[in-house]
Amino acid sequence: MNVGELRDSHGRVMRDLRISITDRCNFRCLYCLPETEEAANFYRSRFDAVRNPKPFSLEPIRYEWKPRDRLLTYEEIERLVRVAASLGVDKIRITGGEPLLRRAVPELIARVAAIPGIRDVAMTTNGFLFARHAEALRKAGLKRVSFSMDSLDPSNFKKMTGRDGQAEVQQAIAQAQALGFAPVKVNAVVIRGMNDHEIEPLVDFARDRDLVLRFIEFMPLDSGHAWQRDLVVSGRELLERLRKRFDLVPIDARANPAETARRYAFADGRGEIGIIAPVTEPFCGHCNRLRVTADGRLRTCLFSLHEHDLMSLLRGGAPDAEIAARLVELVRGKEAGHRIGRADFVQPARTMSCIGG
Ligand code: SAM
Ligand code: SF4
Repeated sequence: MNVGELRDSHGRVMRDLRISITDRCNFRCLYCLPETEEAANFYRSRFDAVRNPKPFSLEPIRYEWKPRDRLLTYEEIERLVRVAASLGVDKIRITGGEPLLRRAVPELIARVAAIPGIRDVAMTTNGFLFARHAEALRKAGLKRVSFSMDSLDPSNFKKMTGRDGQAEVQQAIAQAQALGFAPVKVNAVVIRGMNDHEIEPLVDFARDRDLVLRFIEFMPLDSGHAWQRDLVVSGRELLERLRKRFDLVPIDARANPAETARRYAFADGRGEIGIIAPVTEPFCGHCNRLRVTADGRLRTCLFSLHEHDLMSLLRGGAPDAEIAARLVELVRGKEAGHRIGRADFVQPARTMSCIGG
């Protein structure tokens, strides 16, 4: 079966599918699920500081998890990936919520990795539960893993994630390296007034351990809709700061135009960092990504305001050819790009934890 490729009306061809396998999470990151008192206090202090009139409630936001029977089963995910692979998707990222909260994730990895055409299976995790699953994940065929770690300081880490887990995440990173995952990446979302004083220590940490570090701009995808432009440390500002301490050498991006990070090596040959600046330097023109939420909805952009129900097709007995045709049709309508910063920007109702980062 091959009804074509996943080409949108702007000429971009989709190769990268990100699948959220659960909307649940054991963390409460203040840029994603800011449900803690500390997150509320942080935002309140910032709003006061800039006399921001944005209405803001101190009541922690509570998010209702989807019931289990509304989540795609592993069989359904496998089938969807098979269909997507027949249309040229070759890269899968398993994400969430926290993917390792779902049962038997190695089984899913093995199924997905075995699908013809899939050449790369990766996972994004907060790392807290990684240690207990690491070997099984590796054996199942997972090669690459990205950990989210925004802070090296246990108390700041707790403020940012709502969880006392800095040591666990560091251990998970070390274990991933010991087991031969490569590359092991660390993602850090930088928030002004929260962890922007940690960017140099994070670089030192990553260089000492041969980790690939990515700094990510804070995007308006938090459940509290508390995002404010002045909390974003722009990619440019980050780079200027880092250049004062480190001798950075740009890495040529031509080999992979869909790469979201501006990558830099260090003149002494040790380490690599990347800056992902979707807010201030959108890379939508080269986007080759699609996302499927845990409840089986296709999102053609992180910032889509519409989702497309694939679950009903998968559960309603639609043949593969019909699912493929629907994917082709939906991709044709992919948005040209996001509209952050424009007067008509509307933040999607669902958060990063539902969409899958
Ligand atoms: N729970 C896993 C984790 O945190 O790694 C996987 C899901 S999480 C939604 C995926 C990525 O999205 C993480 O690296 C996280 O830092 C990032 N993220 C979440 N909310 C974000 C936001 N508002 N702006 C930028 N990145 C965000
Ligand atoms: Fe959970 Fe990841 Fe969102 Fe943090 S970023 S709350 S770990 S889904």
